[in-house]
Amino acid sequence: LTKAADRIGRDNGITSLPRLRGSAEVIHLSTSLRSLLLRIGFVERLTLEAEEKAAEDARKFANDIASLRKLAETDPLTNLMNRRAFMNAAADAMRYYQRYNRAIATLVVDIDHFKRVNDEHGHAAGDGVIRRVSELIAQTLRETDKVARFGGEEFVVLLREVSEPEAQELAERIRLVIANSQIPFDGKELSVTVSIGCAATTAQDRDVEELIERADRALYAAKAAGRNCVRLAPAPASNKVRAA
Ligand code: GH3
Ligand code: MG
Ligand code: MG
Repeated sequence: LTKAADRIGRDNGITSLPRLRGSAEVIHLSTSLRSLLLRIGFVERLTLEAEEKAAEDARKFANDIASLRKLAETDPLTNLMNRRAFMNAAADAMRYYQRYNRAIATLVVDIDHFKRVNDEHGHAAGDGVIRRVSELIAQTLRETDKVARFGGEEFVVLLREVSEPEAQELAERIRLVIANSQIPFDGKELSVTVSIGCAATTAQDRDVEELIERADRALYAAKAAGRNCVRLAPAPASNKVRAA
């Protein structure tokens, strides 16, 4: 009995003691030890269950956090990134450009006369058009590019590792793909065009906000030029001074 009791807690997994015969004291002691072992086993099982539950809760919380984060970064209508998520990615790309001189460019894409789609076909049709245009833009981009819906019928694209002419060419491709698409809605075929402002990084751009602002001004120029076209942002003023 002494030998068996000595092994409790040393030998992994010892959960029972032999039932012994002998004097009343020995029988009593052996019964007490057997019952003690049963209680230890019970507590061990409880601890194990609690540990498993804690691990499962932790996995569940990690999943919840991941889906909340995704939700906070996603535009619900198009499933594209929202402005907040995009600005984080764009700021990263801008820092990369400033450090390693890897050129980036942004496009601001805005659907032309979109108010008319809503007025003529209803808000749901407008939503369908926004969704389809978002797909067409995303399909035309490369894996490393990013596109976000900035609200309303306006999208912003981040292009990595592109020269200004390449960015303009991609913008032109997006414009054409959209202009040539029929968007089915409620038995009708809708079609829209987009205007696009394009700006490539220059040494003068201090941050990505400035780059997007220049693309936005180019978008206004595209609207003023009659819409359904791409316009390049002129280089910032100090560039011209330097060139002169
Ligand atoms: P422009 O060619 O100058 O861009 O004209 P526009 O009509 O596209 O521009 P404007 O900014 O005047 O109109 C945008 C409209 O988009 C106004 C607003 O009601 C509508 N809109 C904004 N967000 C949504 C949306 O989520 N769904 C729908 N269906 N319409 C939206
Ligand atoms: Mg518009
Ligand atoms: Mg707009």
